[in-house]
Amino acid sequence: ISHQHQLHVYIFPVTAQGHMIPMINIAKLFAARGVKTTIISTPLNAITLAKTIDQDRLSGLDINIQTIPFPAVEVGLPEGIESVNQLTSPDMIPKFFLAVTMLQQPFEKLLEKYRPDFVVADMFLPWTTEAAAKFGIPRLIFHGINIFSQCVAESLRIHKPFESITNDKESFLVPELPDKIEMTKSQVPEHLIASGSLFSTVMETIRESEQKSYGVLVNSFCELEPAYADHYKNAMGIRAWQIGPLSLGNVAKEKESSIEEHNVLKWLDCKKPNSVIYVSFGSMSKLPNDQLTEIATGLEESGSPFIWVVRKSMTDTDENYLPEGFEERMEGKGLIIREWAPQVLILDHPAVGGFMTHCGWNSILEGITAGVPMITWPMFAEQFYNEKFVTQVLKIGSQIGAEEWQDWVETENVSVKKEKISKAVTHLMSEDGEENKEMRKRVAELSEKAKRAVREDGSSYLQFTALIEELKMQLSRF
Ligand code: UDP
Repeated sequence: ISHQHQLHVYIFPVTAQGHMIPMINIAKLFAARGVKTTIISTPLNAITLAKTIDQDRLSGLDINIQTIPFPAVEVGLPEGIESVNQLTSPDMIPKFFLAVTMLQQPFEKLLEKYRPDFVVADMFLPWTTEAAAKFGIPRLIFHGINIFSQCVAESLRIHKPFESITNDKESFLVPELPDKIEMTKSQVPEHLIASGSLFSTVMETIRESEQKSYGVLVNSFCELEPAYADHYKNAMGIRAWQIGPLSLGNVAKEKESSIEEHNVLKWLDCKKPNSVIYVSFGSMSKLPNDQLTEIATGLEESGSPFIWVVRKSMTDTDENYLPEGFEERMEGKGLIIREWAPQVLILDHPAVGGFMTHCGWNSILEGITAGVPMITWPMFAEQFYNEKFVTQVLKIGSQIGAEEWQDWVETENVSVKKEKISKAVTHLMSEDGEENKEMRKRVAELSEKAKRAVREDGSSYLQFTALIEELKMQLSRF
């Protein structure tokens, strides 16, 4: 293979919005650097995907989609299920993962036929390391989370500081990290506490595959978590390239804005700078109706203008959870979005001055990039780690007081009362208070650094260049 050989990369996300969005942006980044890029997806997902890369193809990027049928029916899932976001009950999760595992064979066929030069695959596809290795192809991993969270998880796994703790609400320090990070046992993922569970076995397989992979791509940037990048390299011995914020790296033109986008932005145009709080809990969280009622009342009592995203899939029944007359009273003051929200555009709008978030990593990084301070309301997965990162390391947000793991499929209780909600919003959105001013200043500085990182001489840009150069070198050696 000569130096002129065009690199070819396979990008293989697991089909969940929070993973597909950043990985499509990774695909676009590679394509923008002249790398031939193929995204591996399933038939239904590919339809939406095709729309998001249309413009890029028109503008000449070498970016394509290959589909693998998703064996939903074979594992006992309803026909047409292809994404984590479509799952409606807990018993569907293991079935979904089984179906995902069954993608290995057809994936190997693709590798055999098309022989890409390397694969970037989702952490939840650990078998891709082995599949790629069969053809001498290196695999890079994308976790969708930051390096900080990976360091916390590793420390908890090794040191198990929670073992000596009897009270679930008592806080302890996460050992041997660059900062003092406090958390409670009720925030530690179950698979770390109870080894032997299905998920802990899955996580173990993931870890093993990481050890054998080429390295990891991370959606963050050097200046955001430098101490943790060093710690990661030393403690885990895995190489990492920080190439984000991926939401900024979208080199292709924005697609035509939908009516929804247009209306939301027009609504924001009439609001004072930094006056609106944006409330969103990501693509997967479900909340019981009582909790939604509590949020509505809390927002109303705060007196702050708001945009609140509540899709139907987030509610536990179709019953109306809004207090009587809520929408009439909130007319002009609050906007409820019942569809997929144009989150990045909303956060970037000058009228938005605060973000109440479930602490999904994409959301947090989008908030940082937009320079918006946050109210943290973690629910499950690594969201509690992200909360610590925001409140204890970066100090650009305050916690609402969600103290316990609340799985998206097992919500029952109201975990945060309206008083806490309205107080947190009033506090964050108030124009005075030293603490608030400091927080705003810090997040504004990070936003600047984030934008600088992806410019041509910025850290993320350079790390990405170094990776591509290295991969080219690897190839020319064969
Ligand atoms: N998102 C969006 N509109 C919505 C909900 C989510 O654009 O109505 C995007 C959001 O900008 C982010 C992703 O979906 O890029 C959600 O990822 P995150 O890691 O924040 O949370 P997850 O959904 O994986 O829990």
